[in-house]
Amino acid sequence: MQQPDQPVLRDIVLLGGGHSHVGVLRRFGMRPIPGVRLTLICRDTHTPYSGMLPGYIAGHYDYDQVHIDLARLAAFAGARFFRDEAVGLDLAGQQVLCRSRPPVPYDQLSINIGSAPQVSQVPGARDNAVPVKPINQFNDRWLALLTRIREHPGPTRVAVVGGGAGGVELTLAMQYRLRRELREAGRDPDELAFHLFTSSDDVLPTHNARVRRTFERQIEDRGIHLHRRSAVNRVANGVVHTTAGDRLDADEIVWVTQAGGAAWLRETGLMLDERGFILVRDTLQTLTDDRVFAAGDIATSVNHPREKAGVFAVRQGPPLARNLRRAVQGHAPRPFRPQKTWLALISTGDRHAVASRGALGIEGDWVWRWKDWIDRRFMQRFSELPAMEETTADPGRGIALDNEEAAQAISAVAMRCGGCGAKVGASALSRALEQLEPVQRDDVVIGLSDPDDAAVLRVPPGKAVVHTIDFFRAVIDDPYVFGKIAANHALGDIFAMGAEAQSATAVATVPSGLESKIEDTVFQMMAGAVAVLNEANCALVGGHTGEGRELALGFAVNGLLDVDGGRVLRKGGMRAGDVLLLTKPIGTGTLFAAHAKLAARGRWIDAALTSMCQSNRLGALCLLEHGASACTDLTGFGLLGHLLEMTRPSAVDAELDLAALPVLDGAEETIASGILSSLQPANLRLRRALRNPEGMSDHPRYPLLFDPQTAGGLLASVPAANATACLAALKTLGYDHAAIIGRVLPQGEALEPIHLV
Ligand SMILES: Cc1cc2nc3c(=O)[nH]c(=O)nc-3n(C[C@H](O)[C@H](O)[C@H](O)COP(=O)(O)OP(=O)(O)OC[C@H]3O[C@@H](n4cnc5c(N)ncnc54)[C@H](O)[C@@H]3O)c2cc1C
Repeated sequence: MQQPDQPVLRDIVLLGGGHSHVGVLRRFGMRPIPGVRLTLICRDTHTPYSGMLPGYIAGHYDYDQVHIDLARLAAFAGARFFRDEAVGLDLAGQQVLCRSRPPVPYDQLSINIGSAPQVSQVPGARDNAVPVKPINQFNDRWLALLTRIREHPGPTRVAVVGGGAGGVELTLAMQYRLRRELREAGRDPDELAFHLFTSSDDVLPTHNARVRRTFERQIEDRGIHLHRRSAVNRVANGVVHTTAGDRLDADEIVWVTQAGGAAWLRETGLMLDERGFILVRDTLQTLTDDRVFAAGDIATSVNHPREKAGVFAVRQGPPLARNLRRAVQGHAPRPFRPQKTWLALISTGDRHAVASRGALGIEGDWVWRWKDWIDRRFMQRFSELPAMEETTADPGRGIALDNEEAAQAISAVAMRCGGCGAKVGASALSRALEQLEPVQRDDVVIGLSDPDDAAVLRVPPGKAVVHTIDFFRAVIDDPYVFGKIAANHALGDIFAMGAEAQSATAVATVPSGLESKIEDTVFQMMAGAVAVLNEANCALVGGHTGEGRELALGFAVNGLLDVDGGRVLRKGGMRAGDVLLLTKPIGTGTLFAAHAKLAARGRWIDAALTSMCQSNRLGALCLLEHGASACTDLTGFGLLGHLLEMTRPSAVDAELDLAALPVLDGAEETIASGILSSLQPANLRLRRALRNPEGMSDHPRYPLLFDPQTAGGLLASVPAANATACLAALKTLGYDHAAIIGRVLPQGEALEPIHLV
């Protein structure tokens, strides 16, 4: 999270979570610059370390051993993590254009997005071959290929196109793994046939003759068919055609040929080489724009072109971090010269490897163990993150600012009065709000399009107003996604009542910084919120934004209900015999507490955010249609607290089946390690309401009953006769984790109204 006492003065945006940027993040994490905000934009949360990829394919490592968790690393570095894909750049406007969020402004930009497969250059390759690049997406394709081969009866022929180090290493790793899989399944491993196609005379053409011979011998000994001087020029469904006029039928075709730069870079105005890679100077700055740096596969050094290999990307991390630091501090970046020869440790899949450097080539099992040690040590740097250096609250010191910016920096840290002085400047606010397009409704008489002291709304005839408010601080550093969650959370109350949303007013606090930074944060956050409000046909009609230590957002929301004939879904109304339904999984409290402690996996947080961004609107309509007798949305009091809010006014008891609770991935792990939300202790007081808690309190899910939820699902009681149909309908609507979690009982004699089973 951004350090609350540091106003934001400069933005460094890291595009892509490649091998260079992970080093940059680690370095900035250990030594942040006060006032400099880092943002990582990456389409994947877990980025693979290329050196261990063949070992993963061969089955020597599991997923987490070979992937760097970018969400966790970014949190460590105090960087914002925007999980998104860049689709363009606006160099003049200094913005990154993203697929599914507003543009992200930068002061300095660094691009480390790896290479893209060049399947489009060979007819049919795109549709009929599995590209290894980008390697971060290869895992899904590999798992699918693994399943296909496991399920494929009889002989299977695999064709690998590309005889460089990557293609050879991958072929040997795949063969080793697949033969083992077949053996374990009681099948004959010789059912597998591998064909390796290379356009050159030899495999690994960039390595020395000794290394080439070693691999040719490996290939021969392992029964792999090597097709030399056989450039693949056409791929049909299950058929490979070569320039030599040969054709081969294959069940799987894997594409490991040379890759190029992402196609969208051609529209950016950056100077590229003939393969579409960004041309950079020795300082890693692009030839086109000093504010834009590039590293790793995507960069081609004009003066020192090198092979595209992860080792170079890793080595560029430290000089890139140094030059980004120098650039924001107004110093000239320093040149970096990559080494001419490097040590490549290339594995053969079977815990054996070859060391290649210049004219040197040595092989052995010990080389594999050496490689394994180096690789694990590298990954350890990202799993065991070091302590951070304390930064002084001296923002702007050492950052190159103009006079106007320096004045803003001083006022950003100066003591402000808690009243109007804490308000975000009117011009920044109005500029941010001007860019939003809230939904227009006929019943909004005065709203944001014609702002006044207050909004004026019409209540349509026959309707009653439902009114609610919610406010909370950001659980993540991504203002756009946080805006979505905050709006969803606030709308939850309206939907839980069975009402339609009409209008919302926002109240927000934004950490201090230059006016342009505050404006952008407000814009990003409100753009996320408006996307959700618009989807609910809820008009944003006004709001108030102030500066605060932390990013926080809330909404007062109006909803409309039919006065006559409409049904209000109250908390009280449960009937004995009803079934308890929960539409979304629980566990956000412990997961985000763990995220703050760097103890959650990025994919757990991704899944939790997806769940929090899912609207309750359709779920509420579905529950109404299936005759729900009572409903509430799960928020801060946790499942037990909200259930008690329902049983008490309904004068019923309830039985909860712990095993049936839908739980977010990772929540059981984080709660088992004792990581609890700060609200949990207050919720825990409600345990007196549980019958037989002694017996059940050891259940791994027991603590989740008290876990506070953000933008949680709907808890409802539904007549037993409708429960199965209601659950099926909820799943069809996308509530994949919806579950029947218990039943409603007649009120008993005992004081404890909730029975656990
Ligand atoms: C099978 C195989 C084995 C290899 N083994 C080795 C080896 O042992 N040693 C070695 O040095 N090299 C090896 N390589 C080469 C190595 O994989 C690449 O050189 C290396 O991955 C390049 O690293 P990078 O940092 O440039 O980018 P990458 O590691 O490819 O990372 C790019 C990142 O950017 C993200 N990204 C991409 N596009 C976008 C976008 N538009 N918006 C947002 N995010 C985006 C991706 O999600 C990813 O996180 C191997 C390659 C293959 C195919």
